Amino acid sequence: MYWNQHLETMPREVLTKLQLERLQWTLRQAGKSQHYGKIFADRGIEPGKIKHPEDIRRLPFTTKENLRARFPYGLLSVDLKEVVRLHSSSGTTGQATVVFHNHKDIENWADLIARCMYMTGVRQDDVFQNLTGYGLFTGGLGFHYGGERLGALTIPSGTGNTKRQILLMQQFGTTVIHLIPSYAMRIMQVMEELGVDPSSDLKLRIAFLGAEPHSEEVRQRVERYFGVEAYNSYGLSEMNGPGVAFECPEKVGMHIWEDAFLVEIVEPQTLEPLEEGQEGELVLTTLTREAMPIIRYRTNDLARILPGQCPCGRTHRRLARIMGRTDDMLIIKGVNIFPIQVEQTLMEISEVGQNYLIILERRDGIDTMRIQVEVRSEIFQEDMRYLKGLEQKIAHELRNELLVTPKIELVEPNTLPRSPGKAVRVEDRRMFETAGS
Ligand code: AMP
Ligand code: ZN
Repeated sequence: MYWNQHLETMPREVLTKLQLERLQWTLRQAGKSQHYGKIFADRGIEPGKIKHPEDIRRLPFTTKENLRARFPYGLLSVDLKEVVRLHSSSGTTGQATVVFHNHKDIENWADLIARCMYMTGVRQDDVFQNLTGYGLFTGGLGFHYGGERLGALTIPSGTGNTKRQILLMQQFGTTVIHLIPSYAMRIMQVMEELGVDPSSDLKLRIAFLGAEPHSEEVRQRVERYFGVEAYNSYGLSEMNGPGVAFECPEKVGMHIWEDAFLVEIVEPQTLEPLEEGQEGELVLTTLTREAMPIIRYRTNDLARILPGQCPCGRTHRRLARIMGRTDDMLIIKGVNIFPIQVEQTLMEISEVGQNYLIILERRDGIDTMRIQVEVRSEIFQEDMRYLKGLEQKIAHELRNELLVTPKIELVEPNTLPRSPGKAVRVEDRRMFETAGS
């Protein structure tokens, strides 16, 4: 049941010792880069003086801005000729950041992914279809190498061409899939249109959902529709990509692989450390990366460590589901709202389809929230009164959750724009204020 029992079930004190050794090594390695070399020299930091993983708090944080300012090679710690791969973050805001890997890094990463997959029950005789972008995005190649490392038949089907994806599933008896949740919702829609019934026409049993925030309700929809166990997968390009934290069969939080990453949770404004159980910004340090170690990286993701031990026997701590990033929070009429709260509520309503879009506008200085909601196509055969009633019901449910009443617009399936990559859930038009209404 364990890919690497020794590492996965290591007693905490042994794990802490391993972390310390790896941290000291990482600091020496990072010191070879322009960026950290200068910081360590300026501040007189000596890796040997770090005596406990918590001593890392004496070191400065690394931010996306640091990576941008040092673009492209400023954090590289090995000779460029040793580098075999680069990946890049999705870069929705500003200059994308780039991460470099040598052979060893790629091997370690593949091993971490194999560990995640094995943990959920994937074995050599599984057929693993990887429905994520093969390119700079880390979900494609990251999972691909992991699937091969485990020994599963790995199909690099990528994204798009949904009909062919479904055909591949049928022809090769795919048992395991990896995809971003918004694409999973899209596939459901296409299967419905094609009349494919996953329970009789397919052999799916496991799905990995990751790379974007999604609610428990979305997981449950995926599980019900495809007849699979769905697991949450968390990662970010700066820390390789997927393989940072992953759910075990208990499905209560995602084990962070602490032999490979050092975890801190800090208060996002003061940057002071927070206790286990408190929500704050996740800060991560690589512990095994050679080509480009990163120290105390501020992920911007809001996270919480679940207290207590996991019944599965793994000793690595667990992160609660990540509901969003510090910069995802919307402030409407003085109320703080995360897009995922909208999703949670919508997905519990059975008439609601697979997609939605939150539009923020400002009229006469007042913020308003409009939500376009795709509903099942048969609903449009109902009369106006029914549709109005449904709009009111959705608005009412959202008001209970958010304390702000949004205006709801029902739209037919497939009408909302779809991004080729991660879903865009919010359109903020408030900078183009509309006078009068
Ligand atoms: P990228 O490096 O471009 O792949 O983006 C990484 C970011 O995607 C993370 O910092 C998170 O904000 C988000 N992300 C990845 N996996 C998850 C997940 N399972 N749940 C919520 N957000 C996620
Ligand atoms: Zn567990």
